Amino acid sequence: MKKDFVIRALIMIVSLAAASWLALRLTPMQNEISREKKSLTKAPVAGLHKFLADVAWMRFVNFAGGLSSIDTTNVDKVSAMLKNIIAYDPNFLDSYQCGVLSISNADPKLAVKILSDACSNEHLKHNSQIPFYAGFILSRTIVDQNNPDKILSKPDYAAATKFFRMAIQRSAQPESYIISNYIRSKAKLRGGDEHHAMLAVLYDEWKMAKNSKDEHVDADYCHIPNIEARLMRAAREAKYPVDDDGRPVNPSKATLELVAKVQKEVFADNHLCENCITSTNPGDKFCVVCGKPVKLWGVCSKCSHVLPGNVKFCPDCGTKQ
Ligand SMILES: [Zn+2]
Ligand SMILES: [Zn+2]
Repeated sequence: MKKDFVIRALIMIVSLAAASWLALRLTPMQNEISREKKSLTKAPVAGLHKFLADVAWMRFVNFAGGLSSIDTTNVDKVSAMLKNIIAYDPNFLDSYQCGVLSISNADPKLAVKILSDACSNEHLKHNSQIPFYAGFILSRTIVDQNNPDKILSKPDYAAATKFFRMAIQRSAQPESYIISNYIRSKAKLRGGDEHHAMLAVLYDEWKMAKNSKDEHVDADYCHIPNIEARLMRAAREAKYPVDDDGRPVNPSKATLELVAKVQKEVFADNHLCENCITSTNPGDKFCVVCGKPVKLWGVCSKCSHVLPGNVKFCPDCGTKQ
């Protein structure tokens, strides 16, 4: 029994000595890291600073969680705690993905500043959420909760567009909401009728995608998946706009002209119903959505048998196609 105790005590003493030796060795390394941290080093922050950031984060969660709301009266205290965490560990994701968002309604400018700095952090260069949040805050009007007449920040669609584009460029498969926000922000920047602007932006993107294959790629260009499906939906919404209550309103002449242009240039080979911009099937005489007559396609020129794809002869009457 007594021997056991002695052995345990010895183990404890040895491990304590080892820990202190390690701590002594680590301290110069940590100092090195904190000095370099100002320029956001490529080296991941490890050891003591990581631990301190974790502790500071727990304190932050505890404090912020105890507040009924984070507003202009307490945001400075919350922000200071947040900055403290980021100073310990600029790569601490939660501090951006949860922490910064929690102050965005009370101090949107600081929130954008922190996120913007994190965007140039080499270690987080593959994170698409950080630029997305910056764009999201920048595309809204944010008012003081305690004084709704006081505007804390107005939308800056040019800056928001830049961040949304970065979020797309950083994602292997960009989420649909990121793309929608990018397109909407670009449309807001363009101004004018909302549907017209949306369609014009998508049409530009489509043209850029087409040109990017052979010509030099525009610096503003980023790949938008399913651009044609988005264009088709935007063309439909532009041609048949509805108001906030869902009642149909009249599209402008310019919008209708743009819709016609998109239909002709983008969807010439897609066999869409010219009236409602819906796909038609080979052999269809009428649109299944709006009932208007559609151009017949994909049938035998003699017997009107529906052809199985691109065939040379009609399988029903043998006529050369
Ligand atoms: Zn139709
Ligand atoms: Zn035939």
